[in-house]
Amino acid sequence: MNNFSFSSANAVDAALEQIGSGPGSTTAAGFAKFIAGGTNLLDLMKENVMRPARLVDINPLSLSGIDALPDGGLRLGALARNADTAYHPLVASRYPLLSAAILAGASAQIRNMASNGGNLLQRTRCYYFYDTGVPCNKREPGSGCPAISGLARLHAILGASDQCIATHPSDMCVALRALDAVVQVQSPRGGRAIPMAEFHRLPGEQPDRDTTLAHDELITSIDLPAPSPGFVAHSAYLKLRDRASYAFALVSVAAALDIDADGLVKEARIALGGVAHKPWRDPQAEALLVGQPASPAAFAQAADHLLRGAKAQGVGPGSNAFKIPMAQRAVVRALETALAGTVTNTGHNDNPKDVP
Ligand SMILES: Cc1cc2nc3c(=O)[nH]c(=O)nc-3n(C[C@H](O)[C@H](O)[C@H](O)COP(=O)(O)OP(=O)(O)OC[C@H]3O[C@@H](n4cnc5c(N)ncnc54)[C@H](O)[C@@H]3O)c2cc1C
Ligand code: SF4
Repeated sequence: MNNFSFSSANAVDAALEQIGSGPGSTTAAGFAKFIAGGTNLLDLMKENVMRPARLVDINPLSLSGIDALPDGGLRLGALARNADTAYHPLVASRYPLLSAAILAGASAQIRNMASNGGNLLQRTRCYYFYDTGVPCNKREPGSGCPAISGLARLHAILGASDQCIATHPSDMCVALRALDAVVQVQSPRGGRAIPMAEFHRLPGEQPDRDTTLAHDELITSIDLPAPSPGFVAHSAYLKLRDRASYAFALVSVAAALDIDADGLVKEARIALGGVAHKPWRDPQAEALLVGQPASPAAFAQAADHLLRGAKAQGVGPGSNAFKIPMAQRAVVRALETALAGTVTNTGHNDNPKDVP
């Protein structure tokens, strides 16, 4: 591991001053990074994938609250831990889709440490990205992408480029995308709000950039709009993976339905994880369901539309062609599960901090 300096900030202004305005590239020798739970950044530093010259500890900042907003929405502090967020009574009762997605990720220990802001900025789990012995355009722009002709099991089937076929690994972000969350950030230039749809980006010609966040911008909160009673009653998060726990999604689906008294769909949300460089959503696929009876046939039609243009990556046994039918079926199953009624998170609580 490389040497780095460490400082701590106890106010947002101080954090912004300390982060400075150095280059933001992961390959630059000297740049500063915020550190929250450290569950991703420290792994990347230990593997020599990221080499920040300076860490700014933001844990002392007062950004851990989960607070109701005047418009009926909810503000999730950037430093609220994933476990505290998932089990918070207002999240569990009003946004059960978000609770379910968070609890599908990582392990109890990691969720106790991982912050909401850090979850948004966790980096891809592409095997080659972590292996500094091989080229990788995300790590070293212009060096190449061995995944395209190699092992692509965890990789994209939608929105990839000829530079990078990586996926974003977060579960939480898939639900946030389905729920139209907005990310609030602060920088020396002031504050701005970034809709989840615009927060993560597709790789295109700049695969080293995962998001639209500037190097010196601090995430302060993630805001959720007022909950839809329909979605509270009918939502589901389905995660398909190689192991039942402690594994990243091959495909995941956040699904929510608002159904009228005649069983027709008033509104639908479908977001996919594990299939693209960002949580994948297509308003046209959702619109296809509106006014339709909530049925497997209608769900299958929406799934086909959502997956149109899907393309397998990788070669031979490394190919991820299996993901295309898997994603189609997962969308139908998630919508059927949502239709049957949300299973709320009222039982097992593995967060020791919450146990009385
Ligand atoms: C073994 C393992 C399994 C996992 N499994 C899953 C899984 O199944 N699903 C899943 O979704 N996740 C999974 N994760 C990832 C985990 O959720 C993330 O590591 C965690 O959410 C990152 O949060 P953190 O606070 O630890 O971030 P850190 O590691 O502290 O930071 C991550 C990045 O975010 C930046 N950052 C942090 N906070 C801010 C802020 N407020 N403003 C600006 N920048 C900020 C840092 O500079 C850094 O670049 C797993 C992790 C591990 C180690
Ligand atoms: S898919 Fe992206 S992250 Fe993985 S090796 Fe290719 S360029 Fe690197």
